[in-house]
Amino acid sequence: MARIIIDPEVCKGCGICVSVCPIKILKISNIVTNKAGYFVAEVVEDKCIGCCSCAIMCPDSAISVLKQ
Ligand code: SF4
Ligand code: SF4
Repeated sequence: MARIIIDPEVCKGCGICVSVCPIKILKISNIVTNKAGYFVAEVVEDKCIGCCSCAIMCPDSAISVLKQ
């Protein structure tokens, strides 16, 4: 098991993490926005396998993966 932390002040909502997650547990929120006005990524299902694909591919290093 693992979980990720997405920094809402760094994420710009590009959706790359959403597209690379192999188990499709990420989405771009239509509720939460950061100070810059972007819709940010969020976890929709607590089933992260800790593959780190999202963190590696995020162009802004907004994602941290915590292995549990
Ligand atoms: S790849 Fe990074 S910047 Fe893009 S939506 Fe995901 S967390 Fe946000
Ligand atoms: S670490 Fe892997 S499984 Fe977890 S949210 Fe990121 S891409 Fe998806």
